[in-house]
Amino acid sequence: MTLQLGAQFNTDTEILKLVEDLSKKDLFNYLLRDTYKLPDNPDQYKRFKCKCVYYHDPNKIKSKGNEQRDIQKYIAKNCPFEIRVKLNEKTNKYEIKGFNLNHKHDLTEENYKQHINQRKITPQMETKIKQIFILLII
Ligand SMILES: [Zn+2]
Repeated sequence: MTLQLGAQFNTDTEILKLVEDLSKKDLFNYLLRDTYKLPDNPDQYKRFKCKCVYYHDPNKIKSKGNEQRDIQKYIAKNCPFEIRVKLNEKTNKYEIKGFNLNHKHDLTEENYKQHINQRKITPQMETKIKQIFILLII
């Protein structure tokens, strides 16, 4: 299975495995964003996006003073990498609806390791991690 527009997958896990493999190969970390679960099956995604951990737009992050500068420097690089996935409810298969596999930053082992624990987390957890992250780098 490869990442192609319109490619179909039986499960969301198959796609996530593919993204996981890609992230290990290319040395980037990703987050799940804009996730919607099926109302009658909360274990299954209806749609989701995989985004690079650096996806934040520095101009859209609202925080105070030094924190903002640090977030801009370390997290917000407005990286365009994303993979959009949606469940086709007629065929019951997951489809790749669009993707951009380009990154706007260096793909290094160092960056990869730095963010490895930030994957697959909720927005609430991300906020928490950001706070911890800021404490660590000040
Ligand atoms: Zn990226």
